[in-house]
Amino acid sequence: MKKQYETYIYKIDNNDIIYMVSDNWQKFADENNGLDNTSSRNVIGRPLWDFVSGPETTHLYQTVLKAVRDRKRKVKLLFRCDSPGTRRYLQLIVFPIENNCIEFWSQIIKTESRGSVDLLRNGIERSNDMIKMCSMCKKIEIQENVWEEIEPAINRLKLLEMEHPPKISHGLCTCCFNAIMHKVENIN
Ligand SMILES: [Zn+2]
Repeated sequence: MKKQYETYIYKIDNNDIIYMVSDNWQKFADENNGLDNTSSRNVIGRPLWDFVSGPETTHLYQTVLKAVRDRKRKVKLLFRCDSPGTRRYLQLIVFPIENNCIEFWSQIIKTESRGSVDLLRNGIERSNDMIKMCSMCKKIEIQENVWEEIEPAINRLKLLEMEHPPKISHGLCTCCFNAIMHKVENIN
């Protein structure tokens, strides 16, 4: 495999417990001032599932891991891992290693600056309203099964007019779900 991007590596054992993260992980976690803040200190020894939000995403990852373990082939997934001021496009390469363990390579393949999106800030006061965000592409569901990029979604839902932004729950948009299922079914 070619290592053309900085690669953040973590590994899970056959019980999905994280047992290794690469030295640059802390830097990645520090830069990720988004929703899923984690540091190397508190990830080792914990189940991968502590860091996967929402039932649909969990189901999807379970399907991917099972396919990787059963077929002994790697899978590459594309997703977004934004911080408030940056759109970050990542690829995640998931591949089988010895003893049913799995190695993950997370690579930032592109970043774009944008005006800071307060909705994504950690530690701000939020209302009891809920909106759903796709874990993979970070689009927001603006009405049932209609998903929009975060900036237009904020306008459409008039989130800036609210005193406090809503809470965010995580799911998967139809597009990402279908793309990943297609990928898993076509591992060769
Ligand atoms: Zn999506």
